[in-house]
Amino acid sequence: MMSPSLLIVVSGPSGVGKNTVINNLFIRKPDLRYSVSATTRDPRPNEIDGQHYFFLTETEFQKKITAGDFLEWAKVYEYYYGTPKQHVQQLLSSGCDVILDVDVQGALQVKKSLPEAVLIFLAPPSLAELKKRLAGRNTEPETELNKRLQYIETEFQMMPQYDYLVINKEIDLTCDQIECIILAEKRRVNRQPENLLNNILNG
Ligand code: 5GP
Repeated sequence: MMSPSLLIVVSGPSGVGKNTVINNLFIRKPDLRYSVSATTRDPRPNEIDGQHYFFLTETEFQKKITAGDFLEWAKVYEYYYGTPKQHVQQLLSSGCDVILDVDVQGALQVKKSLPEAVLIFLAPPSLAELKKRLAGRNTEPETELNKRLQYIETEFQMMPQYDYLVINKEIDLTCDQIECIILAEKRRVNRQPENLLNNILNG
């Protein structure tokens, strides 16, 4: 019997619009919880420690790896990123659905340790469109931008291992599709509470 709470993992190339999609999902589904990751990259001007990421030094991050504090971690574009294990476990056991925004390496690690996790790959309508969006958002210097572009190939190679593919063409449509995935996953027979059948038979 799986936990009735969903662990939803969303990945996709840089610039695909993951943040916008996730923020919209929170407006639609206030019961969703976001797992705040740790990272060794510097905060961007608008980012708040503890809200967008836990910003750690490399030494602090390594200590957490050694202590087994991460559900998964990966080196992405030369920085470390990781999902704090305890926080996710607490949210799941309190009955919340939890959303993780992690890269492809991290997503596959999550699936390995928690096969019931639902992996959603968010793809752009086209590579040309993605490059346009990435260049237009102006958040990374050119060297960073190039690393993100080079990583796209790896990301697409790993995509077939995901459970779902959603093309982010129009935000409302994307969120509708993810909501449908969540709804369908919640109706899986093996996610229902053990006493449900008894209640139906004896009710
Ligand atoms: P950014 O630096 O643009 O916020 O994120 C860069 C990449 O790191 C994105 O693909 C994002 O999904 C990924 N990422 C963010 N948090 C985590 C995490 O906890 N674990 C892993 N493996 N990747 C993460």
